[in-house]
Amino acid sequence: MTALPEAGARVPASDDVFVEECREFLAQFPPRAAVSGAFKWGEGTDQVPIFEEEDREVEAAQIVEVRRWRRQLWDAGLGWITGPVEYGGRGLSSRHQQIFDTMSRQHDVPGNGKLTVSLGMVAPTILAHAEEPARQRYLPALHDGTLIACQLFSEPDAGSDLASVSMRAVRDGDGWRLTGSKVWTSCAHYSDIGEVMCSTGGDAGRHRNLTMFLVDMNAPGVTVRPLRQMTGGAAFNEVHFDDVYVADDHRMGDVGDGWRVALTTLSNERKAIGGDGFGGVGLLSAERYQQMVVALGCADDPVVRQELADLLIHLRVAKLNRLRSAATQRAGGPPGPEASIGKLELSMNYQRIAAFVGQILGPRLIADSAEWGTYAWAPFVLGAPGMRIGGGTDEVMRNVLAERVLGLPKN
Ligand SMILES: Cc1cc2nc3c(=O)[nH]c(=O)nc-3n(C[C@H](O)[C@H](O)[C@H](O)COP(=O)(O)OP(=O)(O)OC[C@H]3O[C@@H](n4cnc5c(N)ncnc54)[C@H](O)[C@@H]3O)c2cc1C
Repeated sequence: MTALPEAGARVPASDDVFVEECREFLAQFPPRAAVSGAFKWGEGTDQVPIFEEEDREVEAAQIVEVRRWRRQLWDAGLGWITGPVEYGGRGLSSRHQQIFDTMSRQHDVPGNGKLTVSLGMVAPTILAHAEEPARQRYLPALHDGTLIACQLFSEPDAGSDLASVSMRAVRDGDGWRLTGSKVWTSCAHYSDIGEVMCSTGGDAGRHRNLTMFLVDMNAPGVTVRPLRQMTGGAAFNEVHFDDVYVADDHRMGDVGDGWRVALTTLSNERKAIGGDGFGGVGLLSAERYQQMVVALGCADDPVVRQELADLLIHLRVAKLNRLRSAATQRAGGPPGPEASIGKLELSMNYQRIAAFVGQILGPRLIADSAEWGTYAWAPFVLGAPGMRIGGGTDEVMRNVLAERVLGLPKN
């Protein structure tokens, strides 16, 4: 089991002391050349993918780096800044987390882009719903990078309508036997454990016959197969379970109470994707598009100017909303409807960006002219539609907002 860091109980005397501690830790990583606000067209990398879809060998090497980064953070007492001390967390506030996040963006660190599901969704669910031994075992190990987790909810016939999952869990002595298939599972190919939603049957009704488990992704009977998407990459998978044994102490929540557990994961998913920490924030800065129209010689075109202004207004409004949401959370509030608004705004702004750059770049988007910042947008444009779907579709987000914020009747 992962050793808990001594730093777990250290409370900094002031924000300044904490800033100094972060600075000391981050000094080992080189400063980033192009941080937000200092973006210069033509300098540094022009890669702007939405999904991280490297060749799987390259990716395996990156995962080693990510795990090392998490271990360094953990050993320095920065691996789970807001986490409870009893599970190795530092017990500090979201303000401290935000200080660290802001400072770490100024450095070339491996970052947590490959851990959005693991740390942003599964870990908070384990904290809220798992049995004590599972919390002790998995929470430190997820935060120090020993383990990575994936989310196994969607099935070929159960996506938006998640309550209709058909994967079965059947009692077997002190445990359960799981059989069925999941689809669109991001990160399954490098995950060690998975949060899996199953049907446990019964007559209690659609939302009362679901049960959530933590499953070992290397257990006999688990098969992971890559799914290639239109960007050419394979960031997600189909996962098949054939009579896979799971001990009962790996159940999260009561039998039949899996829907409540799923809601915890889903609300954290919206927060993780729509919040300020999601990987694409640099793409949402105005400078990139202002400099693009100048560099590509269309800054005087009245239609382009009109569309640029429209795009920048949407990016600005989304940013203000993210700041509002972050302020609510700093004040101890739960991820509320702002998270759904943030997820929807992100997806819609990605569509707007894709349409805008597509119009400006024209043929340079589909044929590689070796010109900086042109063909490099192709993976973004092809990846943007996926953001409308993953983490809850735009239509489902609108339903959530209509029902929970506007109080309209359920659809
Ligand atoms: C990039 C990406 C990553 C993903 N990662 C994961 C993952 O890690 N784990 C996981 O479990 N799943 C994952 N998914 C799956 C994702 O959660 C589902 O694709 C999504 O919930 C939609 O389900 P579906 O594909 O079955 O579409 P459907 O639910 O069949 O929807 C089809 C269409 O009908 C619309 N629709 C459905 N219901 C309603 C309604 N009530 N009102 C109005 N319109 C409706 C939808 O908006 C959509 O346009 C991922 C998907 C993507 C694209």
